Amino acid sequence: MELLKEFEELGLGEKILRTLSKKGYEVPTPIQRLVIPALLNGDKNLIGQAQTGTGKTAAYALPILERLEQTGDIQAVVLTPTRELALQVAEEMNSLSPNRRLKVIPVYGGQSIEFQIRQIKSRVDIVVGTPGRIIDLLNRKILKFDCLKFFILDEADEMLNMGFVEDIELILGKTNPDKRMLCFSATMPQGILKIAEKYMGSYEKLAVESKELTTDLAEQIYFEVHERDKFEALCRIIDLAEDFYGLVFCRTKNDANDLVGKLNDRSYGAEALHGDITQSSREHTLNRFKARKINILVATDVAARGLDINELSHVINYSIPQEAESYVHRIGRTGRAGKEGIAITFITPQEYRRLLQIQRIVKTEIRRESIPGARDVIEVRKARLTEEINRILDAGLPENYEKIAEELLQTNDAVSIVGALLKNSYEDVLDERSYADINTNSIHLEESGKVRLFVGLGRKDDMTGRKIVDLITEKAGVHARDIKKIEIYDSFSFISVPFLEAEAILDVFKRDRRGRPLIQKAREKTAESTSAAAHGARRSVGVNWHDKGGSRNFRAHGSKQRG
Ligand code: AMP
Repeated sequence: MELLKEFEELGLGEKILRTLSKKGYEVPTPIQRLVIPALLNGDKNLIGQAQTGTGKTAAYALPILERLEQTGDIQAVVLTPTRELALQVAEEMNSLSPNRRLKVIPVYGGQSIEFQIRQIKSRVDIVVGTPGRIIDLLNRKILKFDCLKFFILDEADEMLNMGFVEDIELILGKTNPDKRMLCFSATMPQGILKIAEKYMGSYEKLAVESKELTTDLAEQIYFEVHERDKFEALCRIIDLAEDFYGLVFCRTKNDANDLVGKLNDRSYGAEALHGDITQSSREHTLNRFKARKINILVATDVAARGLDINELSHVINYSIPQEAESYVHRIGRTGRAGKEGIAITFITPQEYRRLLQIQRIVKTEIRRESIPGARDVIEVRKARLTEEINRILDAGLPENYEKIAEELLQTNDAVSIVGALLKNSYEDVLDERSYADINTNSIHLEESGKVRLFVGLGRKDDMTGRKIVDLITEKAGVHARDIKKIEIYDSFSFISVPFLEAEAILDVFKRDRRGRPLIQKAREKTAESTSAAAHGARRSVGVNWHDKGGSRNFRAHGSKQRG
């Protein structure tokens, strides 16, 4: 268990270490280094400042799973703002629970309540859920929270934004007083601190300090991509590149192995580097890479430490790094020795805030681009093929080849022969159908269609549609054309924007000095009075300007053939 030594040093037991090894984790993330020992020891309430993508779930899940015994009662509750997060957290906790000793179930609106009731009655140790459904189950006396050891608020700032404060208070009122409370939040608005003071009494605050980091080494871009489309997107990037020679970063050694398997299946020359690879295989792989016998290294952060490789054409963050520092280390490898390199980060919709944070810390623009279309990739490859053929013709064909060509031409026409030769050399590489579909619009359309936002300014504040658009375009850097369906009421307004624009706007307008954001995700489409009660209109003071950067299309960086 040499690899998991750092987890062991945090105080985790052997069984948990074995599940971590199975999941392919190698070292704890910064927030885990802080939270795990704090939760394993003592009984202080904690506030952890961490975002999705930093490993925050495992940070609280691991010590809880380590400390809890089966008692027959529900011993821990995790409250989440959305059903997606509830499902994700429950899944992660179950996968971390050694031999599934402790049972974790998600409860959320939209799923059959009878099914959830049956699950709860059959025994459950940890419940992860959204406030509404939890209240429903508490009222029906199906859930009982009187023997809790841990009460966790996950994405607490989101819960406040979504107007769940009263719900949280109601749930807390039905819990035993001697539980330990944890609150995880990406930001620390006043509202969170107020809840903390009211319900947590004394607490310890844990946040990963971010150092000043800078990088201007490589061209940095990001693609919005769903998890399921990442592989296809990677293939297109490799195929489009003139001469791809790159490092692809994965989160775990299992992810790295899987990716290498998939790349090899598609005839790419890729090998993995991670903590489980022996020193001699590591050297072997590195030598093959340096000699350009393979052109793709798939690595975890741990394995990439101290790598001495230069002149990479690409560094690809197949998974967004868990800390800004690691982003800088990863991409610092491109563009060395005067050569231009490119750093590409894949981000899923849930990781958008993480990207903004990295961007802020690293203080460089990471540009949004679109994943190249299959047709574009084929066109670039065709153009290269023509170039290559002209080059060979210019150099003159060897005599024996000319002879074979003449013989072939006696039985078939030129077009068929050239076509057959191309198929023989390129198989389906030049066939658009060999690329699976990526719905490049999918994030905007599917994740949410449009997101409806509540703006705490209305007619009383002299607001007009024009003024709202000006305010938002100026502060959040989104395009006016993306702001739709503006509805203005007396003391507040609504707008609709695409998912990513919504993220950028929420991020900028969250910093009202009075602790309440000027713009929030709207709850349901409601009449003025209900919405006013739900959100409470408010005027903003001192929002920070933050430029998200524009969007461009991916430029062809060109490629020869699969390595
Ligand atoms: P979270 O911030 O909890 O949403 O976690 C983001 C992702 O990181 C999840 O897929 C986790 O499984 C993964 N993860 C959490 N901790 C680690 C770790 N120490 N090493 C590798 N992956 C991790």
